[in-house]
Amino acid sequence: MVSKEEVLKALSVIIDPDLKKDIVTLGFIKELVISGPDVSFEMELTTPACPLKGMFKEEAEKVVKAVPGVGKVHVVMTSRQANAAKRTSGLKQVKSIIAIASCKGGVGKSTVSATTACELAQRGFKVGLLDCDLFGPSVPTLFNIHNQQIKQKDKMLIPIEVANGLKVMSFGFLLGDAPAIMRGPMVSGYIQQLLHSVEWGELDYLFIDMPPGTGDIQLTISQSIELDGAVIITTRASLSLVDVAKGILMFEKVNIPMLGVVENMAYFICDSCDKKHYIFGDQKSALSDRFGLDTLAHIPLDPARSKPFDNYETNEVNKDFVDNLVREIGRMSAAQEKAPEVELTDSKVIFKMENGDVKEVDNLHLRDSCRCALCVDEYTGVKTLKRENISADIKGLEATQLGNYATSIKWNDGHSSSIYPFKKIDEWAKGE
Ligand code: ADP
Repeated sequence: MVSKEEVLKALSVIIDPDLKKDIVTLGFIKELVISGPDVSFEMELTTPACPLKGMFKEEAEKVVKAVPGVGKVHVVMTSRQANAAKRTSGLKQVKSIIAIASCKGGVGKSTVSATTACELAQRGFKVGLLDCDLFGPSVPTLFNIHNQQIKQKDKMLIPIEVANGLKVMSFGFLLGDAPAIMRGPMVSGYIQQLLHSVEWGELDYLFIDMPPGTGDIQLTISQSIELDGAVIITTRASLSLVDVAKGILMFEKVNIPMLGVVENMAYFICDSCDKKHYIFGDQKSALSDRFGLDTLAHIPLDPARSKPFDNYETNEVNKDFVDNLVREIGRMSAAQEKAPEVELTDSKVIFKMENGDVKEVDNLHLRDSCRCALCVDEYTGVKTLKRENISADIKGLEATQLGNYATSIKWNDGHSSSIYPFKKIDEWAKGE
């Protein structure tokens, strides 16, 4: 009879391209049962909509079938639910909750939230969209749902189902056409009701369309529910890196993993040519250079994106963006990369990496490599900090980890807005 070891050995040739480890080491294989020549097991992926799901299943069946003596192979695909067990009330059966935030209004946060939710619902996943923008709720307009009476059951609000079973709830449904004039305590009461008193049922993903900005309401939302991650939407036109940094730091403060940044209205394709015109400059890597965060998508300025979502149609940009987002959620949920330990000395900063490597960067060089908005021109990306203006006795006073992608260092010249992405440490250590 075939042994479990033989099956696991066969499966261990499959490498997860995002996590760069084999699927057995990653703990994906569960409930392995061998019954005579037949083999069955579960493959637990990091997130339900993993774009590699089909490939993993096919490969697993193929390699196990190739083991001598194996008859039928039965693979059930499931997914991890990191925070789900901690959730209560209407969120009890929600696998992943993702916040979609922006630092300013009007950058397309609601449009991107609706696009993401519609795209995943169209792929057959169970998705919810909660519009928490109390002062400018968009879901009623985006989905053409007006004057809707919200039903209640056992004091819980029942979300409205739109195309592809997507469930939506908005403060706008509670408010009707009346303007939202609210005092602080009312705001927090409504927010709590929206967060905890909606009966979502079973969901793979719930997207929270956050109010714009990085103030108290946003912090309340972030702290009231176990968010699995956050995405920041920005535009090149309003792209203030200081604001983006504020958003990143807000989520960091409450330990919410940052999944990446979406640059909306990034380029324009005119009628007469297929070229992408980057109207506000083509600095595609500015965000990843400065914050070490992936840009999940560059979404074009396209009048078709202003159309209501009651008849959502997919396209290549949306497919790619949602694939990138889902892969990032998977990576976060696997949390494979550990942040290095950071030691600050009088002459250098020492990074002790997860794999045992030690990288040393000269203080002056690291301070000079700062790419924050005070050291680099926000729009042109040109460095404004001059090396000769950095004091020879520059040294780090305090290092703070930012999730699993960067370290922030407070320097003795008073500079505290540096964000040093881990992926750049190698270059700095080599003096580049
Ligand atoms: P926010 O939620 O950040 O306030 P919205 O999603 O409401 O922003 O978008 C603001 C306006 O910009 C809306 O009229 C929307 O239709 C439009 N819009 C958003 N993204 C795009 C885009 N990529 N191309 C064209 N118009 C867009």
